[in-house]
Amino acid sequence: MKKLSILLALALTMALGVTACGGSKPGEKKADGTQTSRLDEVKKRGVLVAGVKDATPPFGFVDDSKQLVGFEIDLLKNIADKLGVKLELKPVTSSTRIPMLTQGSVDIVCATMTHKREREGQIDFTITYFMDGQSLLVKKGSPIKNVKDLTGKKVGTAKGSTSEKNVMAANPQAQVLSFEDYPPAFLALKQGKVVAVTTDSSILVGLKNKDENPGDWEIVGGTFTEEPYGMGVPQNDSKFRNFVNGALIDMWRSGEYAKIYEKWMGPKTKYSIPLTWKMDIWP
Ligand code: GLU
Repeated sequence: MKKLSILLALALTMALGVTACGGSKPGEKKADGTQTSRLDEVKKRGVLVAGVKDATPPFGFVDDSKQLVGFEIDLLKNIADKLGVKLELKPVTSSTRIPMLTQGSVDIVCATMTHKREREGQIDFTITYFMDGQSLLVKKGSPIKNVKDLTGKKVGTAKGSTSEKNVMAANPQAQVLSFEDYPPAFLALKQGKVVAVTTDSSILVGLKNKDENPGDWEIVGGTFTEEPYGMGVPQNDSKFRNFVNGALIDMWRSGEYAKIYEKWMGPKTKYSIPLTWKMDIWP
């Protein structure tokens, strides 16, 4: 009997498509034939729940006043404002961000995530909002000058990242150590446990320039991959995805994007990264 009621409860939950965000599954047909969208749920709830990085300056990090801030957080704030809702932030890592989105504990993920076609099997992506490539962070003066020099050497990166796979492909003889996040990989570099940290170059700029002695570290080897960042959104929900794409395009056109970029990565900032790409904007 108990088993039966558990099964019934499970069936009911599945039928209602209830997720941890309290929403229904996107793309599901309602009785009147229209489809449910996360966009309507977010508006009804009055809150956009977003997965963000919390230790990755300048994208998402905790500042001196203990606030979760950064470039990606300001993009999300703009989207939440356009929706007329509040923004709630949930920290994610490279390995938790996709499961958190598919399980419905966040509505959107904006967390240094590369739009990889292999990830499209689980989630959908918005248009590109940032462009990067993978590089290496080493101790200043290190004999490691590029990815080929990692043969037989230990290199640190984060679990669940493209960086992990890319470095293995670029040099199958490198020994890749995957950490929960990039700061522990950087700590391993400081402790001499790895000879380099590898990930997107702008994340490496963040690690280097947040350090007490940025001059002790060097970013080497140029970039050996392309990493277009997209926000992760639930699959098969074009109403929601179109809204976010529209918001990004509007930000680019109005100059709001440039303002946010300037604030976090402009030449006067600690994490100065030149803006060298253009958003793919639709008329
Ligand atoms: N952009 C890469 C990725 O999506 C590396 C950075 C990260 O781990 O977030 O995996």
